[in-house]
Amino acid sequence: MNKPGPRIAVGGLHIECSSYNPLLTREADFELVTGQALLDSHHFHVLSDYPAQFHPTIYAHALPGGPIEQAAYNKIKADLVHELEKSAPLDGVYLMMHGAAFVDGMEDAEGDLLTAVRDCIGPDVPLSVSYDLHGNVSERVIDAIDMFTAYRTAPHVDVTDTHRRALDQLFRCLDTGQRPSVCWCPIPVALPGERTSTEDQPARDLYQKLPEVSASDGIWDASLMVGYVWVDEPRMTAASVITGLQSGPMEKAARGLAMDYWNARTDFTFGTAIGSIGACLDEAAKPGKSPFVLADSGDNPTGGGVGDRVDALREVLARAFKDVVVAGIADEPATELAFEVGPGASAQFTIGGTLDPETSEPLILDADVVNLVHGASRTDRQAVLSSKGVTIVVTAKRRPFHRLSDFQVLGLKPEEAQVVIVKSGYLVPEIKALAARTMMAISPGVVDQEIQRQPRSRSGQNIFPFADVSFDPIVRWANTDPRALAQPAD
Ligand SMILES: [Zn+2]
Repeated sequence: MNKPGPRIAVGGLHIECSSYNPLLTREADFELVTGQALLDSHHFHVLSDYPAQFHPTIYAHALPGGPIEQAAYNKIKADLVHELEKSAPLDGVYLMMHGAAFVDGMEDAEGDLLTAVRDCIGPDVPLSVSYDLHGNVSERVIDAIDMFTAYRTAPHVDVTDTHRRALDQLFRCLDTGQRPSVCWCPIPVALPGERTSTEDQPARDLYQKLPEVSASDGIWDASLMVGYVWVDEPRMTAASVITGLQSGPMEKAARGLAMDYWNARTDFTFGTAIGSIGACLDEAAKPGKSPFVLADSGDNPTGGGVGDRVDALREVLARAFKDVVVAGIADEPATELAFEVGPGASAQFTIGGTLDPETSEPLILDADVVNLVHGASRTDRQAVLSSKGVTIVVTAKRRPFHRLSDFQVLGLKPEEAQVVIVKSGYLVPEIKALAARTMMAISPGVVDQEIQRQPRSRSGQNIFPFADVSFDPIVRWANTDPRALAQPAD
């Protein structure tokens, strides 16, 4: 039953794509939520707190990965536009975005998508968006929207708060009749998320300023974008983004936040001890509490990594550890072989490099099959193998192991292991709590933390740390003429 109130369409595109990842993200890789299921989904649970008639469009969500196949993107875009047309007349639109989509053969994916949305709804319907702070904005993105906000924490523990801010802005616009504008200031700094965790300085202090700036006269929201660095396209950049009604305070805030970020650029460091895989294992071998959790960062699927590399497994097998858990390695043939031979049996397995054979060397080893997990479908299959004291999880599809329940479902007790190796950047809170000691391996892969090691032809030309640059903050207003903005306090 529809509630009274404004008619608001909701949806979004939520994916992070590394242009260095050779695996295309296809339609089947997306969770496509539509209709009542969208309104009921946990992503959109905050909607129930707002008095409106919400019209579901499409919410396309996927594990980070490689570029989106063009046909898949075009279908998502067409479906979104079609649903918006069906929902007309609309009073407003809210889209839940990530901001780091990359479509095979096309740059500025969100710019393209949001432009299509604007063309569909026309100039008068206000459009509010929420972003991940690891998204890249662009002139086209800013042109298309009326209100912007982004996560203020990494790891992201303020997802729901961010959705609320985006909706609060939209309702403020509808309730008051005020139409805000957005300005932004690109900051020529490229830093991986692992150097800019808001749990560590200087990001913590920088991000703690945002609520206060957002509460200033004439400003509705202040956001600071770290950007997404594992993509080779011109829009790759950090940025400050301000939504508000008064051009003077907005420009000052955009410039100030940008300068603060720029001035801190050489202070960002990894919030955890780092080293090569070998150096991390040397540390793990020293006497100390366990488990020692090693984050294999270059192949982290939640950052856009492939997830099939065995560099860490190879090195740990060569050492004398006795109780190691490696979770997990995406390898469908190895998983299928484990299901064929069954629990208790042994076989020779070839593990790794099945998704990205160009850059990843497989490992051949004899292993026992310890456990099998069927999952909802064949692609959800997982197998637990054991070889020389090392427990190895192989999975039919790419997936992270970022929750204790991911291990528990396999019958594993990572808390009792000497060493746990996960494919991850900074550890998510649940795994961090598990770790008695931890290090992040600066390991090879398509989301290499040493971002200077990746080739760039479309990005990074005038950006720190790739180039020796100076910074004169220039605030951009895109389509809006700031002189047209209201000057009195709102
Ligand atoms: Zn993020």
